[in-house]
Amino acid sequence: MFAIVKEGAKCGGCNWPASHQYVLATTLKEAKALYRRGEAGLCGDCMSQMLADGNYIIDNEPQKATA
Ligand SMILES: [Zn+2]
Repeated sequence: MFAIVKEGAKCGGCNWPASHQYVLATTLKEAKALYRRGEAGLCGDCMSQMLADGNYIIDNEPQKATA
């Protein structure tokens, strides 16, 4: 999961102002692409609720370092 910080942004779930948007992705590049396309980006409350509801599993596979 990645956090994207953008002042003045609104949560894609509840539409409340949230400068920190959380995106489920395997890489930061993918997270940014999803966010730019408007396909991801939730405030902390919405992301926590989604994870608590069990709709998604956090994959803890080690991330490959990018040079
Ligand atoms: Zn929200």
